Amino acid sequence: MSVVSWGFYFVHVTRIRMKTMTCRELGGMCDTGLTAETSDEMMMKGMAHLEEAHPEMAESIKAMPKDDPAMLEWSQKFMADWASAPEMS
Ligand SMILES: [Zn+2]
Repeated sequence: MSVVSWGFYFVHVTRIRMKTMTCRELGGMCDTGLTAETSDEMMMKGMAHLEEAHPEMAESIKAMPKDDPAMLEWSQKFMADWASAPEMS
């Protein structure tokens, strides 16, 4: 393998694909930007942000059953928004 292709390999595997979504895009109420590598991480960061910035909203989400239609609708919208969110380079 040449030096050039090793360099390409290194850049390729170490590139971290981060995506940013705002609190509002996650169904929240402010424009705080949250950055994550995976949809799971984004969900966790979204929840952590809610607990910090909008605790009353975090409480009402926790009180909701997991199979509540509103929750299912939210997670479908979230996955679509996550997929279409631009990657940071
Ligand atoms: Zn917020």
